Amino acid sequence: MYRTLTLITFGLASTFGLPALADAQVINLYSARHYPTDEALYSDFTKATGIKINRVDSDDAGIIARLKAEGSASPADVILLVDAARLWKGEAEGMFKPVKSKILEAAVPAHLRSKPTEDGGTAWFGLSTRARVVVYDKLKVKPEDVDTYEELADPKNKGRVCVRSGSHPYNLSLFGAMTEHLGAAATEIWLKGLVDNMARTPKGGDTDQIKAVASGECGVALTNSYYLARLLRSTSTADKAVVDRVGVVFPNQQSWGTHMNVAGGAVARHAKNSANALTFLEYLVSPEAQNHFANGNNEWPVVKGLTLDNPALKTMTGGSFKSELIPISAVGMNQIKVQQMLDRVGFK
Ligand code: FE
Repeated sequence: MYRTLTLITFGLASTFGLPALADAQVINLYSARHYPTDEALYSDFTKATGIKINRVDSDDAGIIARLKAEGSASPADVILLVDAARLWKGEAEGMFKPVKSKILEAAVPAHLRSKPTEDGGTAWFGLSTRARVVVYDKLKVKPEDVDTYEELADPKNKGRVCVRSGSHPYNLSLFGAMTEHLGAAATEIWLKGLVDNMARTPKGGDTDQIKAVASGECGVALTNSYYLARLLRSTSTADKAVVDRVGVVFPNQQSWGTHMNVAGGAVARHAKNSANALTFLEYLVSPEAQNHFANGNNEWPVVKGLTLDNPALKTMTGGSFKSELIPISAVGMNQIKVQQMLDRVGFK
């Protein structure tokens, strides 16, 4: 799991008679990002700063469990997670060290980071955004019948809806956002409507939902935008057939906009190399890193005004779309309430 870079660094340092400064050459990064394109980003950081990165890869849940088990002995300096509900959970469990950074505060819009602490620190920052979109069967479903989240629960879409487990963080975040927009009572009625409209019991991941729409099993499904973008960029014949059959809608363009989730980062609570950790987070909002970071997984940067060179994103959106502007921290916080609603309405 750990690479041997630290050893190499210290070896070189002693060879040249340099002091092995604990805070000078290394960060330990716990990352839930597992996109091959991030590799170049990390090596560019090391080239620019001389700070080596020791990476531990796991999924969001695995990282949170590991941090919990390690407690104050954790070697983690920086944590990257890929969902607002998980970032909120990490914050709530005291796993992050709130920081102050003019660079990060200027780069990341206030609604895409955690709520400031009493002394003005920020526990985590969104670094890229992903939309939770609707895909539909072009042969059987009219886009105007599925162009809002609310309509998915309308009886006209009975027997059509497919979605992964309600308790998956991507759905907890969407449903948490709906709770902000509609209030809890109306959101629970909406969730019940979704359950009533399901084509099948929730199963599989987002890509499985898109494929089930393409096979005709489902009329409409929810997915994170980058899963569709991946299929759009795929050269496989099977994937091409899938994207030919499905249409995509960025919901709620006439109201509050499409739900946006974030992947984000934080300095670890017990970081031994916190100055380097902050340097790394600040590097991730530089224009080059933002473009790379977002494009690599077909997401959107959090930094405004960058020109994106990603044909799949252009194809999907037709250029631009309206995204919601509610505080993503509130979205994460609603997940406990949402889980109770899911249990009450029988959303598996
Ligand atoms: Fe994902």
